[in-house]
Amino acid sequence: MTKVYYEDAVTTNELEGKTIAILGYGSQGHAHAQNLRDNGNQVIIGVRKGKSADAASKDGFDVYPVFEATKKADIVMVLAPDEVQGKLYQEEIEPNLVDGNALVFAHGFNIHFDVIVPPKNVDVFLVAPKGPGHLVRRTFVEGFAVPALFAVYQDATGKAREVALSYAKGIGATRVGVLETTFKEETETDLFGEQAVLCGGTTHLVQAGFETLVEAGYQPEIAYFEVLHELKLIVDLMYEGGMEKMRYSISNTAEYGDYVSGPRIVTSETKAHMKEVLADIQSGKFAKDFVADNANGFKEFHRMREEQKGHQIEKVGAELRAMMPFVKKDA
Ligand code: NDP
Ligand code: MG
Ligand code: MG
Repeated sequence: MTKVYYEDAVTTNELEGKTIAILGYGSQGHAHAQNLRDNGNQVIIGVRKGKSADAASKDGFDVYPVFEATKKADIVMVLAPDEVQGKLYQEEIEPNLVDGNALVFAHGFNIHFDVIVPPKNVDVFLVAPKGPGHLVRRTFVEGFAVPALFAVYQDATGKAREVALSYAKGIGATRVGVLETTFKEETETDLFGEQAVLCGGTTHLVQAGFETLVEAGYQPEIAYFEVLHELKLIVDLMYEGGMEKMRYSISNTAEYGDYVSGPRIVTSETKAHMKEVLADIQSGKFAKDFVADNANGFKEFHRMREEQKGHQIEKVGAELRAMMPFVKKDA
């Protein structure tokens, strides 16, 4: 079993006396900044003018342009969108890094795929919460946390690991557990998870199920409840107690159907496709395509986004959710 780090495994605060610049004040940025501040650390924000900058000022932070925040800081956490980080790094971050600074990420993408090549004289590590930023903040306030991974890519000071663990503790993650990984492992498993299962796999499974019912003449509203709304309730049970708890909770009819029909849906062919998706991630093809589309104004990305928005399940869902205000959460 891999080692899990909790509160008492991190005995010194390597962030003490240091200025931490959080670059970006979006989903992850606002959560890291506020959690670190609540734990007594010195935090400033580096972000361009606009909505995020206004929000950070309103939340009581000193806000600077990225280059200036980088210059003022000892620890620089890069929480701009992944596709923005390469240019931002070249123009505003790299020229302002000095000996012994820490360059930190919440996802290994740009370092692992060589979009960002850091200088040798700085520590480079990642602290990646395994959950959306709004939960990183909400659970912290509730006295809890989202678990996180950390990895050291480069140790210039001889203390990179300790600083990384202190950062993980600073955002609250050691309350529930922090695991060590590598940039390669974090990046490739994160991309695979979101593409094959969590996001891509799930949305397309739900849509295909919805289409199958609607094409067979069933009411779209009923189909929505059966394949989307109820999914949360099932996933919650899996989250709490694995497949076993979920299967214990459902009817015997549902459990029997799970065993006989599940393998007809996710077949050896599906798994072969998963291996192809993983191979494209490992070879850098996915990253290359993503970066190239971004350089092209995200044409393909925006086309796919529009196409997906138009799916019937989205319209039906919006109407039904308007009648179920209780399903809405602000995170
Ligand atoms: P968001 O899109 O939520 O926020 C990005 C922030 O960067 C915004 O404040 C945005 O400001 C700012 N920004 C965008 N462009 C620039 C620019 N050119 N110069 C300065 N600031 C800019 O990003 P996320 O929080 O989702 O992602 C940040 C990192 O965290 C990524 O590496 C991601 O992979 C990682 N991560 C994200 C998770 C998540 O839950 N979202 C989970 C784990 C890791 P503005 O309002 O002006 O656009
Ligand atoms: Mg991800
Ligand atoms: Mg049922």
